[in-house]
Amino acid sequence: MSTQPFLPFTRPSIDEETIADVANVLRSGWITSGPKVQAFEAALSAYCGDRPVRAFSSGTATLEVALRLAKVGAGDTVITTPLTWVATANVILEVGATPVFVDIDPVTRNIDLDQLEDAITAETRAIIPVDLAGLPVDRDRLYAIAGKHNLRVIEDAAQSLGASWNGSPIGSTGDFVSFSFHANKNLTTGEGGALVLPADVDPALCERLRLQGVKRFPDGGMDVDVLGGKSNLTDIAAAIGLGQFKHLAEFTERRRVLARRYFELLDPALGLELPPADFENSNWHMFQPLLPDGVDRGAFIAAMKERGIGVGVHYPALHLFSLYRKLGWQPGDFPVAERVGARTITLPLFPAMSEADVDRVCAAIEQILPLTT
Ligand SMILES: *Cc1c(COP(=O)(O)O)cnc(C)c1O
Repeated sequence: MSTQPFLPFTRPSIDEETIADVANVLRSGWITSGPKVQAFEAALSAYCGDRPVRAFSSGTATLEVALRLAKVGAGDTVITTPLTWVATANVILEVGATPVFVDIDPVTRNIDLDQLEDAITAETRAIIPVDLAGLPVDRDRLYAIAGKHNLRVIEDAAQSLGASWNGSPIGSTGDFVSFSFHANKNLTTGEGGALVLPADVDPALCERLRLQGVKRFPDGGMDVDVLGGKSNLTDIAAAIGLGQFKHLAEFTERRRVLARRYFELLDPALGLELPPADFENSNWHMFQPLLPDGVDRGAFIAAMKERGIGVGVHYPALHLFSLYRKLGWQPGDFPVAERVGARTITLPLFPAMSEADVDRVCAAIEQILPLTT
């Protein structure tokens, strides 16, 4: 057993000022959506090149409302990747549409843009690209294909806030862009999300889909003209988000420094397959090597845990989950995603980590890998 404190694969950094501001909200008498949500939306909007942004109670709710705003429903298909958090595909089913998966690129581990066009049919209405681990999908190629086939794009940027493409922050360009502020994401509100809206979508409609379809009038009356759900963010959560937002650039920079150290320290002789060494675009949401063939992942994770180090798995290929198998998908459908999903590990990487923590992880891997092969 390790005598050092447990090192999780991620941990949020919340400063005392943020904690004090949450207390202020709790004392204020207004704890659900109010001035803090508006201020948080304004901060995100300024970051996203003054595009309209609306906050949600989760990234999943954000994606679902984006699909509704894009008028995706029964009879439509939506193209996405099988290597993502299952939320990305679940929301497609939730609105009554059918997911169509395209295998991943073995290098980026994002949707393979060389195979994307072949999956487009007359039923295809939208594409949901995912920036896995914070490495952006090539936006130039993606939007060239979407434009050619007149498809909507809902960027699942749950993991890529703080990342950029061609020097522009993710969120500042494109069609719909969906963020998540789950506790493990680079910026957290505990739970939460936000949607960047394209110019042809009415933000007021987005707000109605977020809250029971209610439209309020100055005389106190109201109407409901569309079926909306309940996915507004609270001011308690927004206060956390505002406090986090001040540190976003610094968090991203720190993650880059730590990721660089992994590249420096991990001996190529170990046979790990490392992610692309992208220090331009990626926000290094996660650092994910693939274990060499033959290594027992369960045994590896258990041995790391014994040494006080948390290792995550993000994610198994989702078409092999029971729900998706029942819908007809099977092993062999997307071999690259299946291989990556079976070999991927998420090593500790978060802003409060020290260089010594990275050293400790790398030393443990060097000890353990030969024992688990
Ligand atoms: C986290 C995540 C989501 C869902 O966000 P929640 O806030 O947990 O609902 C969706 N897609 C991806 C790729 C994610 O990582």
